[in-house]
Amino acid sequence: MSASGVIARGLSDDGGLFVPDDFPQIDEKTVMSLVSKSYAERAAFITGLFLDDFDREQLDLFCAQAYCSPGFSHPAVAPLHKLDAGTFFLELWHGPTCAFKDMALQLMPRLLAASLRMEGETRRVCVLVATSGDTGKAALEGFADTPDTSIMVFYPRDGVSEIQELQMLSQSGGNVNVVAVEGNFDDAQAGVKRIFSDDELRCTLDKHGFLLSSANSINWGRLVPQITYYVSAYCDLLSCGEIKAGEKINFCVPTGNFGNILSAYYAEKMGLPINRLICASNRNDVLTQFLGTGVYDKNRPFYTTVSPSMDILVSSNLERLLFELSGKNGDAVAGYMSSLSKKGSYEVPDLVRHELSRIFAGGRCSEQETLDTIARVHSKYKYLIDTHTAVAFKVLTDYREQTGDKRPSVVVSTASPYKFCESVLKALGAERSGKGCELLDALSEVSGCPVPAPLEALREKTPRFTGLVKREEMKAAVTEFLV
Ligand SMILES: *Cc1c(COP(=O)(O)O)cnc(C)c1O
Repeated sequence: MSASGVIARGLSDDGGLFVPDDFPQIDEKTVMSLVSKSYAERAAFITGLFLDDFDREQLDLFCAQAYCSPGFSHPAVAPLHKLDAGTFFLELWHGPTCAFKDMALQLMPRLLAASLRMEGETRRVCVLVATSGDTGKAALEGFADTPDTSIMVFYPRDGVSEIQELQMLSQSGGNVNVVAVEGNFDDAQAGVKRIFSDDELRCTLDKHGFLLSSANSINWGRLVPQITYYVSAYCDLLSCGEIKAGEKINFCVPTGNFGNILSAYYAEKMGLPINRLICASNRNDVLTQFLGTGVYDKNRPFYTTVSPSMDILVSSNLERLLFELSGKNGDAVAGYMSSLSKKGSYEVPDLVRHELSRIFAGGRCSEQETLDTIARVHSKYKYLIDTHTAVAFKVLTDYREQTGDKRPSVVVSTASPYKFCESVLKALGAERSGKGCELLDALSEVSGCPVPAPLEALREKTPRFTGLVKREEMKAAVTEFLV
């Protein structure tokens, strides 16, 4: 398959996930040559290695448009914050929605639109998203007013924070729609899945010139842009003299669907000097268990936590990792996935476990530990982190204690603390109740840090969308929007 074909299709016809045939290599000289480049230039270079059927000048333009101000408020786009000797936070939340999903979703809509043109597709694509908060807003921002696309986001009425809801409901753009669904995230997600497998609806939409697509991280177009920031962080450490060329470093990633950390693994396969990838989980610690035992078992309670973007029992992108670890053995992976859907569990053989432990480590962080970590980092370093980032920092601290590993380590910081005001305020001992925007002020007062501009701007915004549907009514809502 061509890269554009893969991005246009999203999921392969047999239900499997697309993976690269092989990994382009970046040696020490290549990495050094990127040190003096901007983030957009680094992105065009890295994505260009995979998207080899795209015109390089076109990629240069897409990346320059995606990674610039005012969308990204920080000139470095994905800056590193040094906490102490050897500990750095890679801040991936300076984009328009203040969460790391922007890193991919500012670029991916351009890649998708171009892919459809390259594939000779004449229909208009409608992207359907079920979101537990961060993906929905990032996808809306990414697709708003993108030519030849429409986007419709479903979110659980009672499952997102007030800030997240206002962010989505006030979205601008002539091709966007946002609808609340009665129920929880699973209801919204199951509804979207049903729409995707509804042949009658597909037919109707086809007649009206529409094609359905998805923007979640099973699409290769979401993963490729994420490789860039791992390479970019390494370049920045080189540039400020924190590491020597070729020196291996660790990344610790707060993980849910395994998309972010998988991109780090792909960077390692390309030759980026990485020692360990530390997979951090909250109370929903199915991945910690898997990394420790080789058994993946989703038959366990689901907890709602203060780091909701990591509340997940089935991490879809693990399938891609298993494929690499089992020596590209598609049959073996199909077996694990079939066992997962039949019994809710699978176990990998020792060989795969061995490969896994060569590069991955895992750890969990409880609710109380998450809040304690935010408070500790703030009082000791005057640095404010969100709940997801706190999970990762705690797991890195534990990992260092257990292993004595003193290598430079980068904590991947996935959201602005202002997206999760209520929990962060609680962590700082300043629990408040109030409307979304009042909490922004309260957190700014307590922390002494300014509110990010895109969230500050919410004060002036009023909701544009008021739709509320039952799960059974989601299909009708799609038809009404498009037809
Ligand atoms: C989506 C998200 C995660 C989890 O990322 P995955 O790629 O699903 O593992 C972690 N933190 C935040 C803030 C997120 O929005």
